[in-house]
Amino acid sequence: MKTFAAREGNGYILNGTKSSLVTNAGIADAYFIIARTAMDKPLRESLSIFYVPTDTPGIKFGKKTQMIGWKASHHAEICLDNVLVPAQNLIGQEGEAGKLLMLVPEVAIGLAASYVGLARAAYEYALNYAKQRVSWGRPIIEHQAVALKLADMMINTQAARLVVWDAARTAETSPQLAATVKAPAAKTFAVDVAIKNAQTAVEILGGYGVTKECLAGKFLADATIGYSCDFTREVLRLGIVNFL
Ligand SMILES: Cc1cc2nc3c(=O)[nH]c(=O)nc-3n(C[C@H](O)[C@H](O)[C@H](O)COP(=O)(O)OP(=O)(O)OC[C@H]3O[C@@H](n4cnc5c(N)ncnc54)[C@H](O)[C@@H]3O)c2cc1C
Repeated sequence: MKTFAAREGNGYILNGTKSSLVTNAGIADAYFIIARTAMDKPLRESLSIFYVPTDTPGIKFGKKTQMIGWKASHHAEICLDNVLVPAQNLIGQEGEAGKLLMLVPEVAIGLAASYVGLARAAYEYALNYAKQRVSWGRPIIEHQAVALKLADMMINTQAARLVVWDAARTAETSPQLAATVKAPAAKTFAVDVAIKNAQTAVEILGGYGVTKECLAGKFLADATIGYSCDFTREVLRLGIVNFL
C-alpha cells in the first residue's frame, strides 16, 4: 500500500499513485480511495477509505490503459498529489477499510454474474457452431470428443450460476459471510468456468476459432481479464481460507 493519508487540521492530505487499472479513472465523478493512515500499526489495522470527488485539486489521471479485452471498459492510473479532503470524507473510522469491505459483497457478486454470462455465451456459441459444422460426414456435435466438451461447458456454467445465486441470496441475510467467503468463491469459480469455456470454444471452432472473424478469441481475452480483476484467483482463495 503506497498511498498515505496524513491528518491536517480538519481534513486529510492524500499522496500516492494507484495502479493503471483503476476502473473508470478519469471519467467517474468520484472515487473511493484506500490509503494508509498509520505507519505504527499493522497494515490491516491502518487502512482507511476516503471519498474523493474527481474535481478535488491534486488528483490526476493517466491515459487509458490498453487491455487485451473488455474493449468497452475504461481503466487508468490515479495520482494523488497533496489531495486535501475534509475529515467527513473518511468513510467510517480510521483503520476500518478491511472491516467495511467485509460488508460489501456486491462487487464480487456482480462480476461473478457477468462471468456466468460470458461462460454461457462461449457455450452457446460453440454449441451452435457444433450443430452446423460438418466434418467426416456428420455435424461435429455427433463426434463424441466434441459432444463431451459441450456437456462439460453446460454443466460448469450451470454450477457457476448456482454458486452466484447462493452468494447473492446469502448477501441479503448475512453480508459478512457473503463478502468473506461466498462472493469471492463465486467470483473466482465463475471466472475459472468462463476461461475454461472460452478455451474450449476456441478448440471446438477449430481453425476458425483462432481467427478474429469468430468471437471465441474475444471471449477468451475477456475471460482472462477476470483472473486478476478485483483480486487474483490465488489471493481470493487465500482470503477465503482465513474465514473457514
Ligand atoms: C479489469 C481490472 C480492473 C481493475 N480495477 C481496479 C480498481 O478499480 N481499483 C484498483 O485499485 N485496482 C484495480 N485493478 C487492479 C487489481 O486489483 C490488481 O491487478 C489485482 O489485485 C492483482 O494485483 P497485481 O496486478 O498487483 O498483481 P500481483 O499482486 O503482482 O500478482 C502477480 C501474481 O502473483 C500472485 N500473488 C501475488 N501475491 C500473492 C500472495 N500473497 N500469495 C499467492 N500469490 C500471490 C498473484 O495471484 C498473481 O498471479 C483492476 C484490475 C483489472 C485487471
